Amino acid sequence: MSEMVPQSHPRYASLKTREKIVEGVEGGITGFNGLIAQGRGEALDYFIGERTTSAGYDAERAAIAMLLLAEQPVLSVNGNVAALVPEEMVGLAEKIDAPLEVNIFYRTEERVQKIADLLRRFGGKRVFGEDPDTLIPGLDHARAKATREGIYNADVVLVPLEDGDRCEALVKMGKKVITVDLNPLSRTARFATITIVDNVVRALPNLVELADEMKELSREELEAIVEGYDNFDVLRRSVQEMIGYLEEQF
Ligand code: ATP
Ligand code: MG
Repeated sequence: MSEMVPQSHPRYASLKTREKIVEGVEGGITGFNGLIAQGRGEALDYFIGERTTSAGYDAERAAIAMLLLAEQPVLSVNGNVAALVPEEMVGLAEKIDAPLEVNIFYRTEERVQKIADLLRRFGGKRVFGEDPDTLIPGLDHARAKATREGIYNADVVLVPLEDGDRCEALVKMGKKVITVDLNPLSRTARFATITIVDNVVRALPNLVELADEMKELSREELEAIVEGYDNFDVLRRSVQEMIGYLEEQF
């Protein structure tokens, strides 16, 4: 289908993203529910004008500061993230020296394997998830599976497009949770330590770039960014930016 969408199409980026999710489903990387999640995301992306807002960018900066300060950061990859930004996830893992862990909502061993293989094809060196050896407390068995070397013992976890219950369970374990979620009202957005209200296809390239820029900062400077960050305020600003954008339209 890619040949059928001309680059001059006003919503080219959005259509490309949709196509990648469809290809993810066809290739056994993304579950069917991933299509529905993408649809929810797209609707909200319209509301913020399909651009990174200033609140989104502040959350992205705080996320990198937190990841650079982390002792054991881990990047979690699900079926939608694997379809949309596999290369950027591997690139970010490299820059902040973190492993990746495949962590999918509708778990099948085959899909976990396919996602892990995909990440390795993009150069992922430490990729976990195929051999879970523990469970996250408070979740039912299939959703609780985790790896001690990865998410289970991490202090900071980046979980883009995460489910609300799992986000809550990770926070209850005492972890700092960074998410990317276009819905500022979702349970995930409210539970997370840092919520990046942006499309994952814009957020990940931004995060990779910020990791390069910010690794020059001192520990004190990074700590000041994290300490000055207020997630509730960022969610409120995200909603205000949505309202402002909508009001400008007509
Ligand atoms: P809750 O967190 O309340 O359980 P939910 O059930 O809608 O909300 P999930 O399906 O568990 O959430 O997670 C998907 C979330 O990711 C949705 O909030 C959706 O808006 C968002 N989303 C989907 N696609 C993208 C994308 N490309 N970029 C950013 N966010 C996205
Ligand atoms: Mg949910």
